[in-house]
Amino acid sequence: MAAEARRQQDSCSIILSESCGNSPEKKGSAAYSRPGTAMSGEMDKPLISRRLVDSDGSLAEVPKEAPKVGILGSGDFARSLATRLVGSGFSVVVGSRNPKRTAGLFPSLAHVTFQEEAVSSPEVIFVAVFREHYSSLCSLADQLAGKILVDVSNPTEKEHLQHRQSNAEYLASLFPACTVVKAFNVISAWALQAGPRDGNRQVLICGDQLEAKRTISEMARAMGFTPLDMGSLASAREVEAIPLRLLPSWKVPTLLALGLFVCFYAYNFVRDVLQPYVRKDENKFYKMPLSVVNTTLPCVAYVMLSLVYLPGVLAAALQLRRGTKYQRFPDWLDHWLQHRKQIGLLSFFFAMLHALYSFCLPLRRSHRYDLVNLAVKQVLANKSRLWVEEEVWRMEIYLSLGVLALGMLSLLAVTSLPSIANSLNWKEFSFVQSTLGFVALMLSTMHTLTYGWTRAFEENHYKFYLPPTFTLTLLLPCVIILAKGLFLLPCISRRLTKIRRGWEKDGAVKFMLPGDHTQQEKTSHV
Ligand code: NAP
Repeated sequence: MAAEARRQQDSCSIILSESCGNSPEKKGSAAYSRPGTAMSGEMDKPLISRRLVDSDGSLAEVPKEAPKVGILGSGDFARSLATRLVGSGFSVVVGSRNPKRTAGLFPSLAHVTFQEEAVSSPEVIFVAVFREHYSSLCSLADQLAGKILVDVSNPTEKEHLQHRQSNAEYLASLFPACTVVKAFNVISAWALQAGPRDGNRQVLICGDQLEAKRTISEMARAMGFTPLDMGSLASAREVEAIPLRLLPSWKVPTLLALGLFVCFYAYNFVRDVLQPYVRKDENKFYKMPLSVVNTTLPCVAYVMLSLVYLPGVLAAALQLRRGTKYQRFPDWLDHWLQHRKQIGLLSFFFAMLHALYSFCLPLRRSHRYDLVNLAVKQVLANKSRLWVEEEVWRMEIYLSLGVLALGMLSLLAVTSLPSIANSLNWKEFSFVQSTLGFVALMLSTMHTLTYGWTRAFEENHYKFYLPPTFTLTLLLPCVIILAKGLFLLPCISRRLTKIRRGWEKDGAVKFMLPGDHTQQEKTSHV
């Protein structure tokens, strides 16, 4: 019913737009850069000045040449936008159906008035109302003719699926005499208010008129944002879909991590809880919330870390086999390579949880009972000192390696943050992510091996004939470490380096590596 009503409203609105009877003539756009300034870097733009948003208008003065910008709507977005525009030196006039009620919510320098008055003089008008209310603006069609309308709207997921036409295209169909530009929809009201230093800086812009897009780009820059041209208005649907996405690049890695967690948890549950219950009638179900979780977390962290480095090994092996780097990797490998950062960060997350859970182990009541029972046993057995030298050393080394591995993973996680990554050159970044990442994998492997020690060779650790969990987790990293070792062999390493510099086994592109005078190669034809 709602969909039908909306469809009717859509078609009704389109008919209305014809009855709006605007002249299709479009005026040229004024320069909307910040008054008195050239387009300098974004970082020197002021955050919202207290002076400008203060309720006492006498404290501040807007420069006389400040370009006028109109805003239709007085909601959250309109308020943040007005505050930001005023702070960036624009003269703002807000059009509301009830200006008396809403005027107090806006900065004093923004003029809040009726819609008709608000749209009369500015050349650029932001439409900060929802799509379903666009048709209610049709009465303003004559005044809006020839002006730039900025569509900032975002559809809901349901609306996005329901309408084949984007909100911006719909607005353009209602106001054919205006130039519609889609912009600012990916910036939240909060980000607008906080300023671009504290949020997403990119403003995606699309529209059919270059001049209009340039005007809005200049405005975005003047407000401290970075405009990004997304093409014609036909791209608006794509731009409107962006805020609807929920962490798209995290979906597969997160599902993978959860899948691994469930599998390892089930495996550990069978070994640590079910087996003692079935075989020895021991109730170990209390281990489920903490102990089994803590045995599972490092397994997931370790396997996820291996999965960061496995696609690189597969890609290298594929290049060696094909004898060229100019053939596309299969799609699954391509996607895997692109998601390594997310997989690595999830590995770090699980490793951190493992560290926190491990700190909690001695706090458990069961642990205290176990200690007391052990002490009583010692006394009853008349043993004065319990000290197993080998166990002491194993534990010291095991914990130290674990802390080192976690430290290395933290370093990798920190350097993957864009602000830190941007401060590194390519060599530094690849040293941290590739070399230190591999060191983290080696440390984790040694941490796991010292944890397992001789257990893999003791029959009583094969509960229900299932090998200890750590032996399973070691499989992938050992394959990777072995493959990396093979790639270091001079004959393989030399061939791989040549391939990565453009050499092809069967192709015409042949050259010599610097200092490689022993081999006679054909020269490049490219
Ligand atoms: P809001 O708080 O509900 O404000 C909507 C405004 O629309 C109202 O305050 C109202 O102002 C005006 N309006 C005009 N004609 C109307 C009508 N016929 N019926 C009802 N209201 C009418 O919404 P908002 O959060 O500011 O969002 C406004 C637009 O910005 C939406 O398209 C949204 O998708 C987009 N947007 C919002 C955000 C955000 O973070 N909030 C981010 C990006 C994009 P008057 O009563 O004064 O006329």
